[in-house]
Formats: sequence, structure tokens, C-alpha cells
Amino acid sequence: MKYYSLRHQSPLVDFRTATVTGQAPDGGLYFPETIPRFPAGFLRELRNLSKATVALNVMRPYVGNTIPESDLQRICAEAVDFEFPLVPVAAGVAALELFHGPTLAFKDVGARFMSRCLGYFAQRGDTPPVTVLVATSGDTGGAVASGFLGVPGVEVVILYPSGKVSPVQEQQLTTLGQNITALEVSGTFDDCQALVKQAFQDPELAQRRFLTSANSINVARWLPQQLYYCFAWQQWPADAPAPVISVPSGNFGNLCAGLLAQASGLPLGHFIAACNANDPVPVYLRTGNYSARAAVPTYSNAMDVGNPSNFVRILELFHHDLGKLRAALSADTVTDDETVAAIRQVWAESNYLLDPHAAVAYTALRRYQAQHPAAPGMVLATAHPVKFPDVVEPILGHSIGLPEPGASPPKPPQTKRAAGG
Ligand SMILES: *Cc1c(COP(=O)(O)O)cnc(C)c1O
Repeated sequence: MKYYSLRHQSPLVDFRTATVTGQAPDGGLYFPETIPRFPAGFLRELRNLSKATVALNVMRPYVGNTIPESDLQRICAEAVDFEFPLVPVAAGVAALELFHGPTLAFKDVGARFMSRCLGYFAQRGDTPPVTVLVATSGDTGGAVASGFLGVPGVEVVILYPSGKVSPVQEQQLTTLGQNITALEVSGTFDDCQALVKQAFQDPELAQRRFLTSANSINVARWLPQQLYYCFAWQQWPADAPAPVISVPSGNFGNLCAGLLAQASGLPLGHFIAACNANDPVPVYLRTGNYSARAAVPTYSNAMDVGNPSNFVRILELFHHDLGKLRAALSADTVTDDETVAAIRQVWAESNYLLDPHAAVAYTALRRYQAQHPAAPGMVLATAHPVKFPDVVEPILGHSIGLPEPGASPPKPPQTKRAAGG
């Protein structure tokens, strides 16, 4: 598999170069030259395959011959080494819980996959010692820090906006030590992102260190997110209509991976891009005009992104055809008040605690279902609610406490069996 730059001013590269450099020299994001089709046999057998086998099958064409089969097998198995349960939340709504990894948020899979690939390339002497530079709006930093902790040949520097990440998130960023350094920036996520971009363009810095990014612009972080949709499909009732999938979206890597899995032949239904007040994409789908804006802080802070990097990949996947995109994807804007109301309502009715990001997705899905009543759906529950005590504790009426770093997540509350997946 070769990757081209979406700015078309750089040479084609293989998976190794795309992973090690993060971004093309012309500043574009890398995109796979062809979209592999899942073999018919894979789709037929999918429900019976282990997570590690699914991961190996999905990732193999993207990795090509840059990592031998036995190493890729190990990397895949380690990247998906926890549960991804699909649980009923309300009538017609299920939640795919993606927060059972070490940092209690969905970015663990991509970060673990990428760190192990980079570790493999570094160990082979294929790359000079690497410094991974990453800006985080909340969960990326923790997942990257945890994924890269102790990987030989790789230093990690994380920039996070002061006062705009939750205490659990800050704890996960700042307490690991070893090869992980966290820098608190007085500014927003976009300011952190701008500093990272500036560092990449600094010729003096480039002479002293080999810098790469671990944001979802990196193909090794972005592509494994397709696996969530395969795991979701494995658990979706075989006799039910294809699920509508509501994805809480910030930088749009996760949603783009879902659309990619669908383009590869995974039989999924309609997609919803669920956004908070940072909503250039919903505005674009409505009006055809895209304009980046400064990020504004919300309760779903990992989605506070004013200019989502991966949206260009979605446009590429749809050949820049707005009509086709609208047929496959709806988008919605959800306010903080609506987010809190959804958490409160689902807690009261089902005794299930949504985190603010999943609550944004839930609200968007409910609005879609009001227009399409026969459409059963799922939300991607991207973070554990304990990461957001300021929002969820007033609703619960008691403290839920901070988990120890690295501790396995507390079990989510038991839910009643509900119809529709
Ligand atoms: C990063 C993140 C998102 C947004 O995912 P993107 O791939 O950037 O769109 C949503 N929810 C949580 C909890 C996150 O950490």
C-alpha cells in the first residue's frame, strides 16, 4: 500500500515512512492510494473471529510488507487487548463502550497500535531516535503517553491547554515520567496545535531532533480506529437493520475511519457526526460553506476543535461530492445544556451513565430517530464518565472519585435489557 499527500506535492510513501514522518513534506495528510475491499470470506466469518484476528486482517493491507506478519500479529493483539462491549442504553439505542483501555478513552487503540509500530521501526534502526510531539484537547495526550511509555528510542512531549482538561486527564498526562514530558500551555487546544505545527516547520529544531506527530493525522493512529466498527458489527443482531452510528466528533479521525470501513465493504447504516458548539462540519453539510473557527470550551472537551484536521480525508473519501456525502452522513450540533439533559434523562430512565461525549452523540441520534423512527442505532461511548466528575457528579448527587492511573476502569452501571440492539 502506498500513501499520497492530500496536497499532491509530495512523493508516494509506504506505511513506514507515513508513520515515522506523520505528515507529508508539503504539509498534507497522507491518504491510502487504494481503498482495500474486505474479502467476502472475512465478512462471512467476521462474527466468529477474535479481535486480534480482525485487527490483523483489517490492518495487513495498510501496513504492507513494512512489518513482518509475526510482528504485526503481536502489535495487533496488544492494541486491542481489552473489551469493546455493545450495551443497550434505551429503546433503539445501544452504546459501543470504547473506554475499557488503560486511559479510559477510545484513543488507546490507535495510540497503542502507533506506538508499537514506531517502536518496531526504531528498534530495527530504521529511524533515528524519534521525538513524538503531540497537542491534546484532553484524551489524546493520556492515550499517547500510556501507549508510548517505556518504548525504547522514542521520546514523547505533550502540550495541553491549562485549565481545559479534567483532573483525571491531567493526572494521566503528568504522572508517568520516564520518556514522557507534559507541557502545560496557557492557551487553548488550537494554540497547542499551532505550537506543534510551528515546531515541525522549525529548521533549527529539525536538525537536532527527528520530530513526528501522534495526532490522528498519523495513519498509524487513524487507520486502526476502523476496528471499532468491526467489533460493533460483530455484536449487532444479525437480523436487525444496519445500525445508524452516531460518532462524537472533534478532529474527525474516528468518524472518517468508520466511513473508510464502510467503503471497504462493512455493512453499516447511516452515519451521524455529533458535534458540540464547535461545529464547522455541521454548518458545512447544511450550507456548503466551510469555515474554520477558534475553538470554544464545552463540557465535551475532547471535541473542542475549531478546524478538524481529518475532515479533508472525509472529503477525499467522497471525491469532494457534497451530495454523496450528505447521503451517507448527517451532522448535528448539541449544546452543553442538551448534553447535561441527555445524561440526566438516560440516568433516570435506564440507570446508565453517559459521559458528556457520548451524551452529545446520544442527543444527535435521538433527533435523527425522531425523523427516522424505524432506524435502530448506536452511539460510540468514547470516554468513561468518571473522567468528567464536574459534569456527571451533580447529576448523580454523589462523588464518583478518581481512578488510579493505570487501574482497570470501574464497571459501568448495570443496564436493563432494552430492545433494538
Ligand atoms: C478525541 C475524542 C473524541 C473526538 O474524536 P475525533 O476522532 O477527534 O473526532 C470524542 N470523544 C472523546 C472522549 C475523545 O477523547
